[in-house]
Amino acid sequence: MAKINLHYRKLSAGYLFPEIGRRVRLFQQENPDHEVHRLGIGNTTEPLTLTVLEGLRDGVERLGDAETYTGYGDEQGEEELRNELARFYGRRNIVLDPDEIFISDGAKPDAANIQSVFSTENRVAVQDPAYPVYVDTNVIAGRSGPFDPDLGNYAGFVYMVCSRDNNFIPDPPQEHVDLIYLCSPNNPTGAVASREELKRFVDYARENKAVLVYDAAYAEFISDPDLPRSIYEVDGAKECAIEINSFSKLAGFTGVRLGWSVVPKALVVEDSEPGEVHRLWFRRQTTFFNGASNIAQRGGMAVLSEQGLKECAGLINYYMENARIIGDGLQALGLEYYGGVNAPYLWLKTPVNLSSWDFFDKLLNEAQVVGTPGSGFGPSGEGYFRLSAFGHREDIEEAVQSMKSRLKL
Ligand SMILES: *Cc1c(COP(=O)(O)O)cnc(C)c1O
Repeated sequence: MAKINLHYRKLSAGYLFPEIGRRVRLFQQENPDHEVHRLGIGNTTEPLTLTVLEGLRDGVERLGDAETYTGYGDEQGEEELRNELARFYGRRNIVLDPDEIFISDGAKPDAANIQSVFSTENRVAVQDPAYPVYVDTNVIAGRSGPFDPDLGNYAGFVYMVCSRDNNFIPDPPQEHVDLIYLCSPNNPTGAVASREELKRFVDYARENKAVLVYDAAYAEFISDPDLPRSIYEVDGAKECAIEINSFSKLAGFTGVRLGWSVVPKALVVEDSEPGEVHRLWFRRQTTFFNGASNIAQRGGMAVLSEQGLKECAGLINYYMENARIIGDGLQALGLEYYGGVNAPYLWLKTPVNLSSWDFFDKLLNEAQVVGTPGSGFGPSGEGYFRLSAFGHREDIEEAVQSMKSRLKL
């Protein structure tokens, strides 16, 4: 008799986005004449830039000619694209062998899959609040105990609290852990770790032979030249850190699907030799994955060209101007918020200690604005609320105007 993977039953109900949808639909049924403004999405909205479109078109055209047609490519990704990514890091004085870069269909799958090369005995630490993938995939792999609905967390995981007191960047755990997930610039808090803060994690990881899984999906949203855009800007990180990144937010590839991970050959864990984790990830990818789309990879090449990067910086500036408009609105309302400067998310402290969901209802009912309750990202997100800068300018402006004129504070 076939048996299911019982760890799936431990997952707390995937409650956040369906519940948001349910409450918005209910509101719209009861108030059909009200327009609802969305500041809740973590999805890009603006069209691809011209150079990138040309790259994708070129990818399509190549498939229509026997001379240039390609089927399966290099499983690790086109060499040209990996070379280009190595140059991309080179501009920040980070030296990577193109062979240490693995092209994928996105950062979410990589963040989900990377745990499979590590023992299920490993103890996992996550930022709290966090992007849900890190927690859920480790629950499914069997690294947690049961979910505690009162505490809002899983037994067995170490939750590194991100709060106002630490500017939403935690210290490394006091106890021993083996796998540490870090996301900077952070979704959902919009906080960015400094070089010194990252160095503490690198030092911890080297002392404990732990591995950092560093999600840098929003690295290009950093405008402050003193803030690190890669974990490898910290000395020693190649011995202990895997970096995951994506074209999704960098170039609007959320639907195109293209990402990459860096697994340095120098990375060692307790029972491995240098190069072994790299080999295992190669083995994992060649077994489970047949390579990213060749069309998407031509698009990726265009993103990394000089003109492509310039255009994508313009796209990012557009979203960051949205973030500035939202931030100005919150300030005018006297609301306390964080982030939105080097990241496209603003992390709002709910007024008068409302719960995240109570503030969700208030914002929807009074201003017809939809955001994301912070409690959906982990127990320490309670009392916070995420607003996203992804959206068309007019929609963002209308949402902010509606908050300013209708929200009763
Ligand atoms: C959007 C996002 C990603 C990107 O995932 P893709 O699968 O590449 O689209 C990765 N990590 C975080 C934290 C994100 O918010």
